Amino acid sequence: MKLVAAVKLLPTPDQARCLRATLARCNEAATWLAAAGHAADMRRQFDMHKMAYAEMRTRFGLAAQMAVRTIAKVADAFKVNRTVAPVFRPDAAQPYDERILRFVQDGAAVSLWTLEGRMVLPVVMGEHQKRLMAFRKGEVDLCLVRGKWFLAATCDVPETEEFQAEDWLGVDLGIVTLAADSDGRVYSGADVERVRSRLASRKAGLQRRGTKGAKRCLRKLAGKESRFRKHTNHCLSKVIVQTTERTGRGIALEDLKHIRGRVTARRSQRSRLHSWSFAQLRAFVAYKAKRVGAPVVVVDPRYTSQACSCCGAIDKRNRPDQATFSCLSCGHTEAADTNAARNIRQRALRVRGTVMAPDVLAA
Ligand SMILES: [Zn+2]
Repeated sequence: MKLVAAVKLLPTPDQARCLRATLARCNEAATWLAAAGHAADMRRQFDMHKMAYAEMRTRFGLAAQMAVRTIAKVADAFKVNRTVAPVFRPDAAQPYDERILRFVQDGAAVSLWTLEGRMVLPVVMGEHQKRLMAFRKGEVDLCLVRGKWFLAATCDVPETEEFQAEDWLGVDLGIVTLAADSDGRVYSGADVERVRSRLASRKAGLQRRGTKGAKRCLRKLAGKESRFRKHTNHCLSKVIVQTTERTGRGIALEDLKHIRGRVTARRSQRSRLHSWSFAQLRAFVAYKAKRVGAPVVVVDPRYTSQACSCCGAIDKRNRPDQATFSCLSCGHTEAADTNAARNIRQRALRVRGTVMAPDVLAA
């Protein structure tokens, strides 16, 4: 399984200036080469190398291997679209291979080629990155993202063989809370909701203004919101997968295709649910589960919110309000999302061939 590790670099202001100049020069050379290759009808790495390698070095001052990597970058861009000559932004990512970038000081720093020669920069790696980096394959990309420097490294992480799950953790996504599981744990959306509504009101204000500056702010805000969502989904999926891994269970989710249709929330809640990216959350759960070998099963979501997880009775009136489940037949009462998560678990048990009596499940 291919995953990308992002390793943060900590350049001094002077070093950052030099990195920026290096990136700009490489991209200037790439843009020039793309135009020249396009004009000469040469788009393959081999042809462009023969045509322009010497000039890439003398005209732009690139080191031998830097010229080679830049030619490869342009050839890759032509593979995607050969009808136009690509123009590279001055801060577009630049590939480095082991001849122009090496990890030194036991992985605590990198030594890389710049316009001013070799430069040694400290790196920051968390436990997650360290684990991934053990499986690093080939090149890394030097990237500048919102003023911060990173190396993006593709890592080919071996997949763990999927284990046999005897039981499942049912997870219900986003009715009242962000998620609830069949153990009764609730993954509160309280701080998510706080951030979301704060961003929403700022957005509304900017939309009313409608000026050019306001539009720029809106774009920035959209980026902020999507990064926040992504971060939250990462944390949430991590906790879910760790819980199942620890207890040797699989993960049961609802078939997402139906989730919007199923939820008949009030208008205020509708905006909240639909602005959350459950597809992303589910994708994160799936790949994190794959990494630890936990099976994931997807179940039919019909009536999971109206059915009683104790006696199985289905009735719309079992939901006196959004947050509560209260069974008219047996009196079982609990948080609506938890009840739904328990139903999801039971369905997973049925799908995988194990049927348990409802009263066993309730215990
Ligand atoms: Zn009941």
